[in-house]
Amino acid sequence: MVSRMYQPANLREGGQESELTCRSQRLMQQAGLIHPSSPGCYYYLPATVRAMEKLVRLIDQEMQAIGGQKLDMPSLCSAELWRTSERWDLMGKELFRLQDRHGADYCLGPTHEETVTTLVAHQASLSYRQLPLLLYQVTRKFRDEPKPRFGLLRGREFYMKDMYSFDVSEEAARRTYESVCHAYDMLFSRLGLRCVQVQADTGNIGGTLSHEFQLPADIGEDRLLVCGSCPFSANVETLPSGKTDCPRCHTGTLAESKGIEVGHTFYLGTKYSRIFNATFSNHQNQAVVSEMGCYGLGVTRILAAAVEVMSTEEAIRWPGLLSPYQVCIILPKKGSKVAEESGASAEGLVHALQESLPRLRGEVVLDDRNQMTIGKRLKDANRLGYPYVVVVGQGALEETPRFEVICQQTDETMFLSKDGLVDLL
Ligand code: ATP
Ligand code: MG
Ligand code: MG
Ligand code: MG
Repeated sequence: MVSRMYQPANLREGGQESELTCRSQRLMQQAGLIHPSSPGCYYYLPATVRAMEKLVRLIDQEMQAIGGQKLDMPSLCSAELWRTSERWDLMGKELFRLQDRHGADYCLGPTHEETVTTLVAHQASLSYRQLPLLLYQVTRKFRDEPKPRFGLLRGREFYMKDMYSFDVSEEAARRTYESVCHAYDMLFSRLGLRCVQVQADTGNIGGTLSHEFQLPADIGEDRLLVCGSCPFSANVETLPSGKTDCPRCHTGTLAESKGIEVGHTFYLGTKYSRIFNATFSNHQNQAVVSEMGCYGLGVTRILAAAVEVMSTEEAIRWPGLLSPYQVCIILPKKGSKVAEESGASAEGLVHALQESLPRLRGEVVLDDRNQMTIGKRLKDANRLGYPYVVVVGQGALEETPRFEVICQQTDETMFLSKDGLVDLL
């Protein structure tokens, strides 16, 4: 029931306009999908949590399809581990640091290479037969970003999927790397997001091979160079400055564009496994240091980036698979003739949708705000981006009741019977 949904639009007085830095943030705040707390921290309100759970389910499918096993690691990370890898100092101000009651130093995990490698190092009996080992989690990450902005696109507390791989050799690790990149491609294509995979800098994570998955967008903070003649593309950070000819084909010119970094893959080699002594036993029962990779996806950033590129200035559009609800049924206005006489056909419609289409269970909302005009509620439904909107109007009183169905992705309007609607969905 729409009347009971907790979706507090927080711009009623229009007061916070100046803090709204991009389209997705504005639309999501205005629609009551997110609410600002402190800089770079948000309340994720119920509709957003639904979309995020759907995204996490898709990520789980793709990660598990390549052998990923899900776990959940502590966010409170001991400074000892970070001192061992020398990142306690390297991370500088980006790391949220704190102390416990005994004065021991901790940080709130911005990423988990140290934590996961320590875990795997603890297993003395890890055999080559158990590799590749792919462990991943979807958890909150904490980074004291110098400029938190653009809503969920750059938060200080955000959700990331981070996966870590352990392999027997460089060759095997590179195969794992390829399979994760392929899984990312699958995920983005299921979401209908045209991401480009670009060569990237390895930054303070380290390693020798790295790619970013970039979603082209004007507000993107990354500058990309894409060759006009071959598939080469790279983040500007990696290339010598001022370069305009393609380093791969040498004939094409590089054109600059902007992107939002939604994913990042790294081949790490033995950088962390050597430090933390994460080994496995080989055929000859000798301890060998594992070859590692790490692979991030910005879960909350993907949600906001999708809204950013798919929406119009006024109306939210989601990737179909992420829309918080699939169908919104607008019930007639109170006191109208239709309201009095259409009760049975409206109920029959809801029943038919839930019964014939099990995947729509829990996905249909009734806009029961029957004191509001249909027009006003249609406008709301358009703004919130339900893929399908069904209006119970005059047609519901016909012998075979018919309903107005608006497909929001294509902007088509149809008049369908109950069965027709079930077929469409
Ligand atoms: P950026 O260049 O945007 O600061 P990053 O390179 O520091 O990102 P990684 O360490 O590669 O980020 O983390 C993996 C993924 O986590 C990124 O590809 C991005 O999708 C997401 N991510 C990183 N920082 C943030 C943030 N502040 N808010 C939301 N998502 C983020
Ligand atoms: Mg960063
Ligand atoms: Mg980056
Ligand atoms: Mg990155």
